[in-house]
Amino acid sequence: MKINKNFAERINYIREAELPSRAQSRKVVFWEEDTRLLSRQGKALVFILPTRGCSWALSGSGGCSICGYIYDNPQQPDFTIILSSFQKILRNKLNKEFTYSVKIFTSGSFLDNKEVPEEFQLKMLEELSQYEVIKEVVVESRPEYIKDSSLKKISEKIDMSILEIAIGLESSNNSILMNSINKGFFWEDFERAAITIKENGARVKAYLLFKPPFVSEYDSIRDILLSITKIVSLGIDTISINAISIHRGTFLSQLFEKNEYRTPWLWSLLYLCREIKE
Ligand code: SF4
Repeated sequence: MKINKNFAERINYIREAELPSRAQSRKVVFWEEDTRLLSRQGKALVFILPTRGCSWALSGSGGCSICGYIYDNPQQPDFTIILSSFQKILRNKLNKEFTYSVKIFTSGSFLDNKEVPEEFQLKMLEELSQYEVIKEVVVESRPEYIKDSSLKKISEKIDMSILEIAIGLESSNNSILMNSINKGFFWEDFERAAITIKENGARVKAYLLFKPPFVSEYDSIRDILLSITKIVSLGIDTISINAISIHRGTFLSQLFEKNEYRTPWLWSLLYLCREIKE
């Protein structure tokens, strides 16, 4: 059992009340920014695709207690339009004088076929492989959609060594995943997915969440440090620590409004950075 039934019911109750406020459709959002590529300075071209959103957030379990991204996703995405906008933006924005990392975010899982039909996943990645200036590609996915068979198909469309798959692990502690975040998966699921990605020649990024609900500042510092130790021993390539922000329409926002949650301190992040460097 990877969920706490009472906790999930409470989250789902809040979610159900907010979901009807989503728009029907939306355009592809994108921006360009300076970034540090693996080997040099470069540009990042970031896309937010207007998919239907995270299947976990739409499930009867209500999704993660801290996440309100689903409210920004439209109810009826049109992938023919999404693909043609994506192609047009690439044609217009990529400049031969720079090297790029292209990040495709969906506020969910790019590898979830219900969210992005497989045909479009493959077409988008194939499109990226046509551009010499693109040196890195990042997509995000929950572990359950990371399958050897899907990655084999992807490897026919793009050089896997430039692909990084980012997973929102949040914590390596299964009790925090279940009783604080309602993540719906455990450390072991992340481990399996990470190994599958590495075996297929791509890179793995792990997101960690600093100070989820019901976890004190001190305990969250300890949890991040312990999680990093486990992640590093697994050979994960990139770690991103996300200090929590309050999303509307979530279990966390209700705690915050009742003064039962305080956002983390910047000093704790500084402390974490120093400890991690050691
Ligand atoms: S944090 Fe990720 S997995 Fe959780 S509900 Fe949000 S998009 Fe879905």
